[in-house]
Amino acid sequence: MTVTCANPIGYETLVAYWLNEVPPQDEAALEEHLFACAHCSARLEQLAALAAGVRTAAENGRVSLVVSGGFVEAMQRSGLRLREYRLGPGESVNCTIGADDHAVVSRIRAPLAGVKRLDLVLASDRGEQEQRMADIPFDAASGEVIVIPQAAWLKNMPAFTMRMRLIAVGERGDAPIGEYVFDHSPQQGSAAPG
Ligand SMILES: [Zn+2]
Repeated sequence: MTVTCANPIGYETLVAYWLNEVPPQDEAALEEHLFACAHCSARLEQLAALAAGVRTAAENGRVSLVVSGGFVEAMQRSGLRLREYRLGPGESVNCTIGADDHAVVSRIRAPLAGVKRLDLVLASDRGEQEQRMADIPFDAASGEVIVIPQAAWLKNMPAFTMRMRLIAVGERGDAPIGEYVFDHSPQQGSAAPG
């Protein structure tokens, strides 16, 4: 590409835009730039291509992404601060999100060899309907599914429990292959100001 940009949009901002986490007051100017600038819109397209196959689930402002390992590496390279949790089937974790964290990355492991289609069910204990994300991307060799809850939403949440269930879907119906429990607490405020 020969087109250049005098003032390219930062990669971190592009990722935030793609994650729909740009503050509303900045969005119009950013979109204007992207619309007018072939250089930056091409970079955004590259980012989207990298995230191909990403599944999102949105309900009542609750958004989660299932992404590839490559997408997380790109987030890390771009300097985003990530808080990672790793769980095996049947495990639970006490988790949180810091005010400075750009994202929480939940890596859940499962035996995925031979799985053709994988669904993820998200169930919170706050009386909301379960969300079922169908046909999520996964890498059978890594035996890992990576879930990123929307940071802006999570930062506003009180203590709650989120259960994730992985379900292999085959010709004979659903086969549960793991449950993972996230006991979330909001982060305690830091010490006195000053
Ligand atoms: Zn530009």
